[in-house]
Amino acid sequence: MSGSGRHFLQIPGPTNVPDRVRQAMDRPVPDHRGPDLPELTHEIVLGLRRVFGTDAAEIVLYPGSGTAACEAAIVNTINPGERVLAFNSGQFANLFAECARRLGADVDLVDADWRRAVSAAAVGERLAADSGHTYKAVLVVHNETSTGATADIGAIRQAIDAAAHPALLIVDTVSGLGSMDFRFDEWRVDVALTGAQKGLMLPPGMGMLCVGPRALERSASVTTPRYFLDWKPVIDQEHNGYFPYTPATLHLFGLREALRMLHEEGLANVYARHARLAEATRRAVAAWDLAIMPRDPAEASNSLTAVMTPEGFDADQVLRAAERYNLSLGTGLGRLKGKVFRIGHLGALNELEVLATLAGVELALHDCGVSLEFGSGVRAAQEHFTTPAAVAAGA
Ligand SMILES: *Cc1c(COP(=O)(O)O)cnc(C)c1O
Repeated sequence: MSGSGRHFLQIPGPTNVPDRVRQAMDRPVPDHRGPDLPELTHEIVLGLRRVFGTDAAEIVLYPGSGTAACEAAIVNTINPGERVLAFNSGQFANLFAECARRLGADVDLVDADWRRAVSAAAVGERLAADSGHTYKAVLVVHNETSTGATADIGAIRQAIDAAAHPALLIVDTVSGLGSMDFRFDEWRVDVALTGAQKGLMLPPGMGMLCVGPRALERSASVTTPRYFLDWKPVIDQEHNGYFPYTPATLHLFGLREALRMLHEEGLANVYARHARLAEATRRAVAAWDLAIMPRDPAEASNSLTAVMTPEGFDADQVLRAAERYNLSLGTGLGRLKGKVFRIGHLGALNELEVLATLAGVELALHDCGVSLEFGSGVRAAQEHFTTPAAVAAGA
């Protein structure tokens, strides 16, 4: 295909960066110790708090990526040798557990079904059995980007409470935050973390954490070696609007603009938009007679859809076929390599972009020899967008 027109970046992150964000970043590099920085930092902290769903938790920013934020969450809260509970519910859950293990934690990685979200009952059962309170933290991925399953963090919090267990609740919401509802305070999450390039619509290059009082208190007695990722100096200096390292200043301008966009649209509207776009995508997949990874529709993610290809069929072929139409889809990760492809519908995205993406997936599936009726998925999505309920929700 020609290089004319735009590239459709429909992987589940990085996502498409809105023009407003790009333009906000296109400026001379400022003095990061200059007088203007505190105002910028302050607006970002307040804006991010609203997205995380917290009134007063600490916001910690690093140049880096989501993985850096994962590592920061561990080194600040877990001592070497301490037990951590994690669930193998997908590739990112695995990587988070591996991060903790490499940093010296004694990780209890519970086997789980990759076609389910982490179950609150399983969390509760493990914690109830740990009467000696040896687990210091539970690691949970809010939105598992490899499978497109979303965990019910509120229910997991209730299970932890029911077990009366003091373990910290540490949540990776890299591919959820900014596209799906998150309630740090209400769910009493202790640490939540994300990256710049998914729901927050920035180019890759930053990791962010939201840190609650219990995690902060615990970090004061944690001895795991840390320097750059020690959140204490970052929090202390951020209160004055500065950073103990050179911040990714142009990213900060982009982040401020992205947060303004989210708040102008209104977070409830943003989440409703993603619910609508996701449901349309799922209806398209059903119209193609293909299955998505989550068995329970209630667990299906609103930020991405992992589509299972028919048995004996290499899902990466679909990716290669899609590339010919200037469309990038997500590959299968870990044990799902070759078995699923993923459609990203998080971040800056609207109905027509979803329809074009679905039309592109139909072309790619057709070119790979998957039998389907052209337009069937697109029509199912259009029908969803025009249902009275979807229209009322602001389509
Ligand atoms: C993308 C992602 C990560 C890793 O973030 P990077 O920015 O690639 O380092 C971690 N967890 C989840 C759930 C993700 O989607």
